Amino acid sequence: MHLDLVDHLRCPHPHPDITGGVPLVCVAGKVEGRQLHEATLGCAVCHARHAVTRGIGWFGVGAMPTPTAVARTVADQPELVRLAALLNLDAPGGFVLLDEAWATFAVPVADTFGVAVVLVADAPSVLAHPNVSVLAGLGDALPFAPAVLRGAALGASATLARLASAAMGLTPNGRLVAPVQCAPPPALSILARDDRHWVAEPRAEPVSLRRAPPSPLPRTPGQ
Ligand SMILES: [Zn+2]
Repeated sequence: MHLDLVDHLRCPHPHPDITGGVPLVCVAGKVEGRQLHEATLGCAVCHARHAVTRGIGWFGVGAMPTPTAVARTVADQPELVRLAALLNLDAPGGFVLLDEAWATFAVPVADTFGVAVVLVADAPSVLAHPNVSVLAGLGDALPFAPAVLRGAALGASATLARLASAAMGLTPNGRLVAPVQCAPPPALSILARDDRHWVAEPRAEPVSLRRAPPSPLPRTPGQ
């Protein structure tokens, strides 16, 4: 897990009275450079604890299962370019969330487009790469602060609740990509749709227009 990601993680448990979520406190064990290999992430409000083991953030119940390896290359280059276009990866930097439907794209997206990828998988997987962080065992609630993700691509198993949680983490111009059979969360506006995916971005906050108050008439001398 990249250390820069830790600052943007929030407790996945509901804390509706705390705007923006509760930051997770990191007690680091083993760190190499900017990579967090062993640590505990804790919530100061609900006291939940999540272990970082072998660099993988484990949010599931009980001990983390033995992680499996994920392919690091994608054979389908046009599909990689299509994903980058959907996510609007026109410049390097920022965080992109991929779920396990897109797992084999994690390393190619990080390498080709210079973004930090966060792979959210049900089962822990090993992807030793300086710009790919793996979070596993999460439910529908994703542990991101608001306005962190420049893009997110989820697969067909994504629930409306998980899509809504990913949408909460998007930057104002961030993109969410999901299969057309998934219903988009109401907080998003659909930008484009084909026979496979839709791509959406957060709805702009409505701007209220009010008539300016009349300016006072200038006083003339002697009045
Ligand atoms: Zn909490």
